[in-house]
Amino acid sequence: MTSVFRKLAAVKIKNGTFNKVGVQKVSTWSPLATAFNSRPARKLNFSISQDDVGLFGLPELRTYDGFYSMKENAVLETDKLIAESCDPNRSRKMVEVFDELSDTLCKVADLAEFIRIAHPKAAYSQAAEDACVSISGIVEKLNTHRELYSALRNVAENKDKFETTPVDEHVAQLFLFDFEQCGIHLPESDRCRVVELNDYILQLGQRFMAGAVSPRAIPKEVLPKNIRHLFTIDGDQVLVTGLYADSPNAAAREAAYRIFLYPDGHQEYLLEEMLKARHELAKLCGFPTYSHRALKASIVEMPSVVNEFLDILTEQLWDRAAADFHTMMRMKCEEDPLSQQNLAPWDTPYFTQKVKRDWLQVGSSEFSPYLSLGACMEGLNTLTNSLYNISLVNDEVRPGEVWSPDVYKLAVVHKDEGLLGHIYCDFYERPGKPNQDCHFTIRGGKELPDGSYQNPVVVLMLNLPTPRWSSPSLLTPSMVDNLFHEMGHAMHSMLARTKYQHVTGTRCSTDFAEVPSVLMEYFAADPRVVQTFARHFQTQEKMPEDMLIRLCASKHLFAASEMQLQVFYSALDQCYHSHHPLQGSTTDVLAQLQNKYYGIPCVANTAWQLRFSHLVGYGAKYYSYLLSRALASWIWQEYFEANPLSSSAGEKYRRECLAHGGGKPAKELVSQFLQRDVTPVNLAHSLITEIDNKREHINNVKRTSSCQA
Ligand SMILES: [Zn+2]
Repeated sequence: MTSVFRKLAAVKIKNGTFNKVGVQKVSTWSPLATAFNSRPARKLNFSISQDDVGLFGLPELRTYDGFYSMKENAVLETDKLIAESCDPNRSRKMVEVFDELSDTLCKVADLAEFIRIAHPKAAYSQAAEDACVSISGIVEKLNTHRELYSALRNVAENKDKFETTPVDEHVAQLFLFDFEQCGIHLPESDRCRVVELNDYILQLGQRFMAGAVSPRAIPKEVLPKNIRHLFTIDGDQVLVTGLYADSPNAAAREAAYRIFLYPDGHQEYLLEEMLKARHELAKLCGFPTYSHRALKASIVEMPSVVNEFLDILTEQLWDRAAADFHTMMRMKCEEDPLSQQNLAPWDTPYFTQKVKRDWLQVGSSEFSPYLSLGACMEGLNTLTNSLYNISLVNDEVRPGEVWSPDVYKLAVVHKDEGLLGHIYCDFYERPGKPNQDCHFTIRGGKELPDGSYQNPVVVLMLNLPTPRWSSPSLLTPSMVDNLFHEMGHAMHSMLARTKYQHVTGTRCSTDFAEVPSVLMEYFAADPRVVQTFARHFQTQEKMPEDMLIRLCASKHLFAASEMQLQVFYSALDQCYHSHHPLQGSTTDVLAQLQNKYYGIPCVANTAWQLRFSHLVGYGAKYYSYLLSRALASWIWQEYFEANPLSSSAGEKYRRECLAHGGGKPAKELVSQFLQRDVTPVNLAHSLITEIDNKREHINNVKRTSSCQA
């Protein structure tokens, strides 16, 4: 990567005057931008030939049969490593053997899980699914291997016969904790119950998640005639598939809200059963509540700390959110002066979107020509160069290496340290591809016995519009946010240089895992960063100053009310998982908490929680979103707000935060980096400071431009 653009940027950053950098002289796109502004055109090589390197360059995967041999090898390798762990004469640290064991299984399982989801050919995804099933079978067996467990526990409790470091000890504890999650340390009857409960919870969770998104059908007559046409009609029935939050028709929003969220007995049963089973599981494993179990090894450590954080935030957010609701109420009266209605829960998402649109003045489609994928990738490259001296290089994809012909491969290269890893970019929509933005670890980073480093390999999956012959993929502002967010995860994977793959990159505590990705959203919302890359895909003209300012400021609108909603969701998730039995039904608890934590009361005969599928995946950890945001905000204010392209701040962040992955307890890691205790008060303070700064920023923009909101 030797683009003029990058050199210019890199030189200017050293002088600390990036604010004023003019890049008007740039007349050509860099190779990276050019690559991402044109669709990769290459022949897929599905035939077995000399040239075919196999998926991810793995020769075994020249055909889907390769999954079977990979799995067989993993089984053999696993047996060898189990024998080594249990051998009193083993010649290396126990945690090293365990990590190799984990690496052997993860390498196959992670790869297979990704291919199962992403490969367009059924034979591949089927073979991958079979491999996933086999590996989880092996894992299940390991989880009941008492000799293996005793060998590890002995080392964790009495020290290894080889000298160990704090990282060795921390990782050994993590392995031990994982083991004990399966009840291996319990009397046999309890252990069997733990296995049963885990299985039951899994099944309940899958059914609850399916129910949470299933549409609701009601007789046509129930809906007023004047809004019926806004819904899907199926014979005599109306199908309500969601909340219609974007509909400008208030009656349609209200109808959708009341119908979609009408209490459902079966969902309620599933939720109550799940909470009950989780509580029993936690008790069996020696925790007072499920929440205590879930928060062990997190930054907050205890449910009481989460509650304190949420309570402090609520107190400080209340008036700030009320001001947002007041503005929304004014907008509602303007839209319908005759309406007597108060602001309702079905109004807030609508007015939040509306105010953002109004603020941008023009539709987000006016912004997209300045946000071509190539331009955005160039922006990311400028950023990684400035912060870490790292270039993103578009690498050649060899025949057979990728699962779809439009996948790019990025090499992540440090100026002095060389290649650090690869990011496969599966960015464009295609039929059958899961519609979610996601980061997949394919191979974790790890020190190898010969002293070399196993470089990480990840995939970023997005659903960007496919380029057309006349234009590259043009992103909306929210797609740019998502791209930056997912790149935050990818860079965490690339820059963590952990000794063990068990703690590679994003494999850290849930409440730290989103910090690097959320932090990237701050960069994507900063005009000094956006101006380095937002250029018209045809004319290469920079995004006009007023558009730039409106774009960045629009992201700050109604921040307090949006955050208050997240506080309420977190409190609900926390309460469900820390009290058993609950005082009343899950709906009663929701109504109480909504009054306490959210400025708009609950609507009778609705049960929003039965559609809240995150209760399954997060289970007492939904607060992680807010906590990660608080930490990211704090890091931003402390290190990057003054100069978002500071190489000294970037280098420090890389060495002290990203480099450790999950190899250091997250609480210790962040308090050392921030040089302050990570307390509920300090965390809440960073979020409130941000909200106040945003409001001041918006007021300034309002004063100096024609924007209205
Ligand atoms: Zn994320």
